[in-house]
Amino acid sequence: MDNGPDSEEVARIRRFAEHYAGKTGTALHPDPEVTELVLLGLARNRAELGRPLCPCRFYPDPREETKHRTWLCACDDMKRFKYCHCLLFVRPDGLPITEHLPEGHEGREAWDEVADPTPESGRESGR
Ligand code: SF4
Repeated sequence: MDNGPDSEEVARIRRFAEHYAGKTGTALHPDPEVTELVLLGLARNRAELGRPLCPCRFYPDPREETKHRTWLCACDDMKRFKYCHCLLFVRPDGLPITEHLPEGHEGREAWDEVADPTPESGRESGR
């Protein structure tokens, strides 16, 4: 049996992503290939694991990982720092927002400091 995502599953993830991008003042990646790949990965994980586990990371045991909140989309790094490892939620120019990341975070190392064009929205307060 094929457990891959059907088109409704992908459409559902797309609706979530569009809504979440609007809510957080981010944009989906301007390169549709990037966006589609991430949406497909999220939809596949939801279909196979029952939760939208981030598709951009390696997990020794993906099913076990879904028991934790950390890497369910939107993940902790996105909620706290507005940083999306997968480049799904980015600035309109396609760069990931890194200005809220703590020093030493891998995103800062990879991208240096990238300013948030909408700093008033998108981060959960108190986290
Ligand atoms: S890095 Fe976080 S916000 Fe981005 S796709 Fe993965 S889980 Fe979602």
